[in-house]
Formats: sequence, structure tokens, C-alpha cells
Amino acid sequence: MKIDTNNKLRFLSYAIILYMLIALIWWSYLLIIKNKDAYNAKIDLIKITKLLDQSVIDEKEFINDIDILSLKKKYKSQEKMIMGEAIVLAITLLIGIWFINRAYRKQVETARQSRNFLLSITHELKSPISSIKLILQTFSKRKLEQEKIHHFSDNAIKETERLEDLVNNLLLAAKLENTFDIHLEEVELFPLLDGIKENILSKNKNVTIHLNLNENILVLGDKMGLISIFINIIENAIKYSYEKKIIHIEHKENQNYDIISIADNGIGIPNLEKNNIFSKFYRIGNEDTRKTKGTGLGLYIVNQIIESHKGKITVENNQPQGSIFTIFLPK
Ligand code: ADP
Repeated sequence: MKIDTNNKLRFLSYAIILYMLIALIWWSYLLIIKNKDAYNAKIDLIKITKLLDQSVIDEKEFINDIDILSLKKKYKSQEKMIMGEAIVLAITLLIGIWFINRAYRKQVETARQSRNFLLSITHELKSPISSIKLILQTFSKRKLEQEKIHHFSDNAIKETERLEDLVNNLLLAAKLENTFDIHLEEVELFPLLDGIKENILSKNKNVTIHLNLNENILVLGDKMGLISIFINIIENAIKYSYEKKIIHIEHKENQNYDIISIADNGIGIPNLEKNNIFSKFYRIGNEDTRKTKGTGLGLYIVNQIIESHKGKITVENNQPQGSIFTIFLPK
């Protein structure tokens, strides 16, 4: 269903609920007035009957008359009941508005994410496939020197790896939807990060990665999960940084957690977006204007894996610029 149609339906629902609220107030008011009229009429009837059969002679005696007192009690409790019912109904209607609004906002967000996802995934799939096709066509049509064959083959392998990463990320995200069976073990943090660093530096230029941690730290985690977390965060740090990319990785600890922070000097993340970036398919900005490649799955995967470790992840601003992602892994 289109957002416009949804919007119309939402406003129609609001209009109906508003009408119901006004009707409720009106009918409650009318009921209270009618209740009062009925009460006054009954009092008059009691008074006339009692005066006629002379069981009461003086008006003043009515103040303590048992029938009038019980009628008054009944009237008061009926009045309270009407007001109580009206308040409950009004609250129910307001809760209805809140639910409609929430569902609407969720729908808009999902529609936006699906559109972003479709656009980005199409691009991410199309561009490596086109390059590989072009390389293969060149191979079949032209006789190339050995050096050129190497160069083109390297490019084709890189593109294939990109495709493989994308498919792996999609599969992992689908797997994380259900349950991710983590296999906890003591992992040596330094060699793990050092291996990732070497791998990333071999593929990226203008990147410096500082590992500020002891060589003998052991953390409790799923090794493959940890690798996926660090690769995603470090690759983002590179992707969302300017020309000269400097990344600092640090380890600290407290009683309950091993705390690993990854700081970059990149474009930074606006405060309003800090919570959103961990949602599935969420990418800051608009797919039509964005220049960086991606699917919005990386940080979703990171967050899911950390949650399955019963840990948490936070993001803050780095000084003077950039972001710091901090991972808390339970000991
Ligand atoms: P992707 O990188 O594929 O778009 P991610 O889930 O990895 O998806 O990240 C979600 C969004 O968070 C990114 O689109 C980007 O806008 C923002 N982001 C992530 N890491 C950083 C970072 N280090 N600096 C600035 N923005 C970032």
C-alpha cells in the first residue's frame, strides 16, 4: 500500500476517533443531566407522596428521611459510574490513537528501508557482475600480455570477493534473524586484531591502524563472530573517512566487561542517527544521493552478534572528528 493512502487512512482514523471523543463527552454530559433530572423528579415524587399520606408534615423532616437519603446515595454513585465509564472510554480511544500512530511510523520506516535496501543491493550486485563480465569478454576477444592478464584477473578476484562478502552478509543476517549459536571460547585478542589489520591494510591505501593493547589479552567470545564484528566496524571506519584514515583500537576492562573501542577520524555520526544505525538495512541519508557502497546490514550484524554474547555496543563522537564504537563483552 502506498504511503499516501496510508496517510489518508491515518487521518480518517484520527477524524473518526476525534468524532467519537466529542460524542462521548456530549453523551456523558447528557446522561449526567438526565440522571439529575430523574433524581429531582423522584425526590419530588417521594415528598408529594409523604406529604399526602401525612407521614411527613414539615419540609425540614425530609433532610433526614431514609428514602431520600438512599436515593441521594444511589444518584451520587450513578453519577460517579457515568464519569468513570467516560474516562475509561476516552483513555481507550487515546491509546488507540497512539497505536495507530506507532504502527504508521513503523510502516513508513519499513517502506523507506526496503526501498533503500533494494536500491543498494541492486547496485552492489550489479557493479561486480558487470566488471567480471567485462573482464571475461576482454579475455575472450583479445589476446593479452601476461601482465595485463594478471591485472585483470586480480580485479576479477576482488570483485568476486566483494560479491562473496555481500552474499555472506545476507546469509548471516538471515541466520541471525532466528538464532545465532555462539561457540564461546577464550580468544587471544591481539593476534586476532593484528590478522584483521594486516588483511585490511593489504586491500586499502592511506589507512593507519594503531593497536593499543597488550599482546596477552584473552576475551570470551565466538571467534568467527568477533572477526565479523571487527571487520565490519573497521571497514566502516575506512569507508566513512576522508583521505587520510587513522584508526585507533584500544582495550580496557572493568569488573564485568572487556571493553574494546575502535575510533576513527571520519565523517562522524549525527546524534539523532546514533540509535538508528544498528537497525537492519538502515543507512544514513538517501540512496539516490549517497556515494558510498553498502547495504545497511553491517552494524545490524555487529549488534546481533554482540547481543548474542549478552554484551552491548555504544557509539560516541570522536575528537576533533569521527566516531568511537565501543564494544562491551561480558567476562
Ligand atoms: P553500510 O555501511 O552497508 O551502509 P552499516 O550497517 O555498516 O551499513 O552502517 C549503517 C550506517 O551507519 C552507514 O550507512 C553509515 O551511514 C553509518 N556509519 C557506520 N559506521 C560509520 C562510521 N564509522 N562513521 C560514520 N558513519 C558510519
